[in-house]
Amino acid sequence: MTETLDRDDIARMLRGAIEKIRAGHETLSRLDSVIGDGDHGTTMVRAMGLVEKTLAECASPDLKGMLNDVGWAVMGVDGGAAGPLIGSLLIGMSEAAGDGPQLDAAGVAAMFEGGLAKVRTYSQAKVGDKTMLDALVPAIETLRAAVTLGDGVAVAMGKAAEAAEKGAASTKDMVARFGRARNLGERSRGFADPGATSISLIFRGFAGALA
Ligand code: ADP
Ligand code: MG
Repeated sequence: MTETLDRDDIARMLRGAIEKIRAGHETLSRLDSVIGDGDHGTTMVRAMGLVEKTLAECASPDLKGMLNDVGWAVMGVDGGAAGPLIGSLLIGMSEAAGDGPQLDAAGVAAMFEGGLAKVRTYSQAKVGDKTMLDALVPAIETLRAAVTLGDGVAVAMGKAAEAAEKGAASTKDMVARFGRARNLGERSRGFADPGATSISLIFRGFAGALA
């Protein structure tokens, strides 16, 4: 059972997320073409390309520095709301990651909570508004609850991925109150939010890397 994460574990998790987004990008753009402008898949693929490039070139020996570098790279992806939101998640995770070489399960939960706090500085959206937060909030709350109950990091991440998937699926019945989809009002109902779907893919990639 994975009990702690070090820099290389987190790099592996990020690579897992890259793979899942690449495999799912057509779905993401299709969802965004229904309730947005159709670019979400390509924006996310570009963002993941920057993550990959940064990981390959990353000079930071520590996990905090690596997450910071990756986050700033994603922050700079052009086009779309997604870059600054995913970038701020990663930068917030870096800020909360501490200076040590590894994180125990509680430290991993705190790292993700730091990421969510940073996202909230960019987004006023709440759960139920049909945004990324509908996947991100339950994923991170589930991660924390699992860790509190004594689960190891890998098991807790698996539960977080499941919660993210449920959260993303729940956006199908919601009416968008943020982003481009807000303009559609009632017509945004019936389709999952692309950003929430991306978060579910990212968490599934994280969990898969630890399984
Ligand atoms: P854009 O809408 O600018 O084209 P993307 O298509 O890349 O950007 O991303 C759209 C996704 O961004 C939405 O599905 C939603 O999940 C997320 N999003 C947009 N605005 C917000 C916001 N204010 N808070 C949280 N998530 C948001
Ligand atoms: Mg879009």
